[in-house]
Amino acid sequence: MNTIHRFSVVATAGFALLASAAMAAPRPAMPELNLGERGASGERAIVLLGDNLAAVAAHHGIAPEVLMQRLRSDTALRLDQSGRLYFADDHLPPALTPETVRPASVAQAPLADTFLLHSRPGAQRTIYLDFNGAVISGTAWNGGGGPINAQPFDADGNAAVFSNAELTTIQAIWQRVAEDYAPFDVDVTTEQPPAGALTRDNLADTVFGTTVVITHNAGVYACSCGGVAYLSAFDNVGDYYKPALVFWNMLSSDEKYVAEAISHEAGHNLNLYHDGDATSGYYTGHGSGATGWAPIMGVGYYQSLVQWSKGEYSGANNTEDDFVVMQNTGAPLRADDHGNTQGTATAMTQTGTGLTRKVKVSGVVSTDADVDMFSFNAGAGTATIKIKLDALSPNLDAQLILRDAGGNQLASSQPKKSLGGKVSVSLPAAGTYYISVEGVGKPPVLGTGYSGYGSLGQYTLSGTVQAP
Ligand SMILES: [Zn+2]
Repeated sequence: MNTIHRFSVVATAGFALLASAAMAAPRPAMPELNLGERGASGERAIVLLGDNLAAVAAHHGIAPEVLMQRLRSDTALRLDQSGRLYFADDHLPPALTPETVRPASVAQAPLADTFLLHSRPGAQRTIYLDFNGAVISGTAWNGGGGPINAQPFDADGNAAVFSNAELTTIQAIWQRVAEDYAPFDVDVTTEQPPAGALTRDNLADTVFGTTVVITHNAGVYACSCGGVAYLSAFDNVGDYYKPALVFWNMLSSDEKYVAEAISHEAGHNLNLYHDGDATSGYYTGHGSGATGWAPIMGVGYYQSLVQWSKGEYSGANNTEDDFVVMQNTGAPLRADDHGNTQGTATAMTQTGTGLTRKVKVSGVVSTDADVDMFSFNAGAGTATIKIKLDALSPNLDAQLILRDAGGNQLASSQPKKSLGGKVSVSLPAAGTYYISVEGVGKPPVLGTGYSGYGSLGQYTLSGTVQAP
């Protein structure tokens, strides 16, 4: 079961220096630098960059003063010998013990399919979660040295075999990451993609992506950190600044910790910096329970609701719009799957032949402005429709509104302490009715709440209505 796949890397230094490009407007090229040392941060990095700081900032899509501010406030932001920026994420969660270990999630797919999971098969962009171990060669992580043997994911001390519990954990990790990337036209997969699906051969190549290798840091990367990743590697030509690395041994092999680290490191590959606050490079979040919130590019280890962000919380030190940055780095949003108005509503599937009928439909809320509108035919009497979110780590705080054909609101649902909800209403007459789903925030945004910005994700609506 535990096949060690060879990680093929075709990057050369020449390719790497072609630099990366956004799909619409290529980012300015990186200057060709040899700074003589690797890993500098803070003032040292600023001194090393010297007159090249503006060009390096431009390549990474930010103003020179912003790069200086980020280097000064965030010691995890490092400079390699070529002047490239990467993150060594040194914020670690407390190690779990037998007493604090999280209960295992239930596998969503047959265990035999664990390395065949795809969130969006056929997408041109891919994030490959590599749990099987890898041989990494010819990349920036090798530093000119020989191949790096990256061990497979392991949670039970036997790295030679994946136990059923480990396969279940891998499925759960994939599912959590897939929810984070659900708004994007990007396939999050555990299956090794065919050659060419990840490597961007040239700027005209539209099929590319990145790999996150989930491994032990021993012999791979010497740091006390949960993961490392280069900024903006996702749409670079060549694979020199890939893969992103996540270290399960620093994260108690825990499903949530590892999943949060994967989404975060892939976010760096998509050119995202950290979401911190006035005192820390990493914002750890606020609130509690199902609506306790944290940004993915801060630290998601301690809260349930972990979303993409544009710095809408008290003390935020980074107001970059995550969705805009990621789209500009090669991750397009998916096309809207359901219309926003009653005129463009999707009819819910209706089944059954008796007095009550079942209605059902699935979708993804993919932007803050997205409203998914559905129609159903029903007779007079009770109609009950509930929303089911991602079972492990939903990003969508959903509001449901049920309306009649004239657009009059008959019922709505937006629980304060949970993300899902349901509407139950006695419909006055037979007819066509409409129910909408949209992502919402929770006030106060600058207190214990959050905006609707990152409140996006997968859902299924289901319920019962009277026969039309
Ligand atoms: Zn980071």
